[in-house]
Amino acid sequence: MFSMPGEKMATTDPNPYQLPRNPTRSVRIGSVMIGNGHPIMVQSMCATKTVDVEATVSQVNHLAGAGAGVVRIAVDTQQDAEALAEIRKQTDANLSVDLQENYRLAADVAPLVDKIRYNPGHLFHHERERPWQEKVEFLANVAGEHDCAIRVGVNCGSVDPAKREKFAENDSIGPMLESAKDHCELLDRLGFTQYCVSLKDSDPANVIEVNRRFVLDRPDVPLHLGVTEAGMPPEGIEKTRLALGHLLRRGIGDTIRVSLTVPSAEKGQEIEAGRQILEDVAAGRIHDDVGTKEQGLNIISCPSCSRVENEAFVELAQKVRNATRYAADYPLTIAVMGCRVNGPGETDDADLGLWCGPSFVNLKRNGARIGAFSYDEILPRMKEELDILIAERA
Ligand code: SF4
Repeated sequence: MFSMPGEKMATTDPNPYQLPRNPTRSVRIGSVMIGNGHPIMVQSMCATKTVDVEATVSQVNHLAGAGAGVVRIAVDTQQDAEALAEIRKQTDANLSVDLQENYRLAADVAPLVDKIRYNPGHLFHHERERPWQEKVEFLANVAGEHDCAIRVGVNCGSVDPAKREKFAENDSIGPMLESAKDHCELLDRLGFTQYCVSLKDSDPANVIEVNRRFVLDRPDVPLHLGVTEAGMPPEGIEKTRLALGHLLRRGIGDTIRVSLTVPSAEKGQEIEAGRQILEDVAAGRIHDDVGTKEQGLNIISCPSCSRVENEAFVELAQKVRNATRYAADYPLTIAVMGCRVNGPGETDDADLGLWCGPSFVNLKRNGARIGAFSYDEILPRMKEELDILIAERA
């Protein structure tokens, strides 16, 4: 098996789950390697406020102790970057930073972390007069200088608007694929090879399709797999099992995350669920029965992160699930998101969308914003809108 100088293996068994593996390139992320037959790595992300150094270090160490090969931390501001410097001093875990629009923060955080995740869709919004290619070049230079890997993280709810315009409105796969492939080509041209890609959607069937199509064109690029906004357990785990099971059985996937809406102290569930999926795939306990979208009420919710705007978010998602059980047979999607950064976009395709502000929850139906309601008012208001949707389908 290919190895690199100074490479430290996470385990002595290169394929502990005995899964088929595609021959992707190897990418080093701190002390772990992904791709090229290296063990499929399970990872997670902190849900604590990044500026709360003590809580974030505690969660990083908890996740790493549970088996996370890499732990991701959101950095949106200079204060977050300063907190990250302190976090770095207090943990040996492999760290990835999650950047949004402010890609220039990469220069401050690259010396501190092992991987930079950027979203091509978010690069579009900051410094619009500057071509995205220059922004990627900046990121590649900074990452290369500090020996960081990069993840090009394409997400269904925040695709580059320029890509979305090129494809039919009902084609969610085309823009994601083209965006990912363009970024890979550019990184290749820049001579930056230490990158992987993720293509995430909240619908397991779309996750399968977009990843399978990507692999047809770029079988060499390591893939990080996940279902975004999978929601609460057990449904969130089941959706992820369906998508990842299908792909992993075909050798697709070098690292995975199970994104779950759970209280911050229970984030270790993401790692347990990820390992269980790998074990189940290896044991042949996962089959190809993907079809969650039209079967009944589908609640999607984000796993929360440093950007969540009210700690009541997880409880809100749970209350939405409980309050809507009477509608379980209706093929409707309700999206519940934790912040105003991603909430508006990530709820676009849902029949009902809720996203948190500090003291209110925004609500929309069929893509049209209805208003903002207090945390006490939102559930009855949401049910009114749900009943309208049900009546329309009667
Ligand atoms: S929707 Fe907002 S709070 Fe939720 S995971 Fe995404 S960025 Fe974090």
